[in-house]
Amino acid sequence: MREEGLRPAFLRGLEAVLYVPSCAVCDQAVRPPLPSPSVCRDCLSALPFRVGREMLDWEGSFPVYASFFYRDPLPRIISSMKFAGRPDQSRIFGPLMAGTVLRHKLMADAVIPVPLYRKREALRGYNQAGLIASSLAENLGLPQLPSLLVRQRDTERQSEAPTVRERKLQLKGAFSLGEEREAQKALSGRPVLLVDDVLTSGATMMKAARPLLEAGIRVTGLVAASGKNRYAGYKDALTAWHDA
Ligand SMILES: [Zn+2]
Repeated sequence: MREEGLRPAFLRGLEAVLYVPSCAVCDQAVRPPLPSPSVCRDCLSALPFRVGREMLDWEGSFPVYASFFYRDPLPRIISSMKFAGRPDQSRIFGPLMAGTVLRHKLMADAVIPVPLYRKREALRGYNQAGLIASSLAENLGLPQLPSLLVRQRDTERQSEAPTVRERKLQLKGAFSLGEEREAQKALSGRPVLLVDDVLTSGATMMKAARPLLEAGIRVTGLVAASGKNRYAGYKDALTAWHDA
């Protein structure tokens, strides 16, 4: 009897020892309550939010939003997610990108990550866009559909500075719909969020959206970070999808 009484106290003690919340940006242990679910107060105030400039000015046929400027510490966070085996850093994005969705009243029935090429994902162990999408989906209470879209080619690792023409060829037909026919049918005419980590030229986002748009799915792009305000100068890359 006495042991029964001790167990909860013991577990509570264990939880306190094991669960030390840490900031996803600076890794320092922080005392709850955190101002945001995973970021300490100092880091939160230093993040380069795009509030007021989240809707990007670009020439695609669907809207694209970005939650942050691609400035310190975003390049560091995203690169350690991708190359330093720190998938846990994705948890910073869900709650804060959900803010973008709510501020702009973006409609969505599901969250779809821009997929990695299968072999690359197997090599890395995860898709960083998928982790961001799943953190976002969890915060919005929406399903995440990681295999609705499939990446046909490994277009992620590219030559250092591909020309627009090279990039166009690299991305040609790079994405297609996967095997989830039921979900595809259910989403026809419905809105989804297509999620990626960084928007650079916009060509990847445009290519990934194409099969979804062709299936009658209404796409809104949402990326964690973008360094630019205007993508108008990238018309060549953006219109590549019409030529392909
Ligand atoms: Zn911090």
